[in-house]
Amino acid sequence: MPSRQGRARPTVAAMPIEPVDALRRIAYLLERHRESTYRVEAYRTAAAAILPLGEDEVRRRVREGTLRELPGVGASTSAVVEQAVTGAVPDKLAELERTHGGPLVEGGEALRARLRGDLHTHSSWSDGGSPVEEMVASAMEAGHEYLALTDHSPRLTVANGLSAARLRRQLEVVDAVNAHTGASFTLLKGIEVDILDDGELDQDRDLLARLDVRVASVHSKLRMERAAMTRRMVAAVRDPLTSVLGHCTGRRVMPRAGDRGGEGRSGGRTRPPSEFDAEAVFTACVESGTAVEINSRPERQDPPDELITLALELGCLFAVSTDAHAPGQLDFLAYGCERAQRLGVPVERVVNTWPVDRLVDWARP
Ligand SMILES: [Zn+2]
Ligand SMILES: [Zn+2]
Repeated sequence: MPSRQGRARPTVAAMPIEPVDALRRIAYLLERHRESTYRVEAYRTAAAAILPLGEDEVRRRVREGTLRELPGVGASTSAVVEQAVTGAVPDKLAELERTHGGPLVEGGEALRARLRGDLHTHSSWSDGGSPVEEMVASAMEAGHEYLALTDHSPRLTVANGLSAARLRRQLEVVDAVNAHTGASFTLLKGIEVDILDDGELDQDRDLLARLDVRVASVHSKLRMERAAMTRRMVAAVRDPLTSVLGHCTGRRVMPRAGDRGGEGRSGGRTRPPSEFDAEAVFTACVESGTAVEINSRPERQDPPDELITLALELGCLFAVSTDAHAPGQLDFLAYGCERAQRLGVPVERVVNTWPVDRLVDWARP
């Protein structure tokens, strides 16, 4: 079982590593450094190819030089496996631990140590790059007590948003995962639900009510006129089904991380913030108990500092979330924590520092 919060993680160099774990760890380290999906995928594909094989078969294939006959195993990934089976730390992994394994950012460590989970993540059911199980395994290895699976809602077709039928099926998968993780970890049922033009939420209300956490976000008509955008957002955050207001301004301050997080396929472009009356929206958040998300993605950094300060002064709750579209991006929490702590957000007001029972009680409509 991984250590809590990853604080006491033994150095990888100190222990032999299974070939599959070596490949997964390489992918994770590449993802947390925003490497292109293409580079990362080779390692995840190879890990998936090796996973069903028994140790004996892996060793036999290494001896006989037939690893690369497996679909998805190439020159660099087979080298990792060959070195791992000898009990050595693969060169590629050792190099990445040196170059990519350190802290992502300075500051925010105290808050990060208090976070128990993440309330905004995507899987390959919508536009994430990895299956639910891989996100869960990585979250547990990162020391999380809970993770909300928040794939997109139907209208975001470009991100393969989930119909009501697909979301119902996903909820069965979540139940199955939870049956295996035991009491120390909970996969929360969630959604990142689009805020429609009139402030309505883009999913059946009965189905939304069955979820543990609902992150409501604007993904369309980001340039809506200020008064209309304010009405739209106020209506959404006042909706009792809304738990968290996601990336409220929609801005992009740098090119997107190398993943499929494709809301709108805006690719490498930056984007200005939407215009709305932030005081009105945050006041509505306070009155309705909706948390304001501090989106940790480096290209979003949303809300901007001055809006976090305003939300803080008005008395908002916050959720520091990653919006991870790949397992390694679960480490992006460090970025959000740096900002929240620097701006003086008290730990107690960050809902994902709360134990899971309190969190779920709070989020209940
Ligand atoms: Zn979003
Ligand atoms: Zn998202």
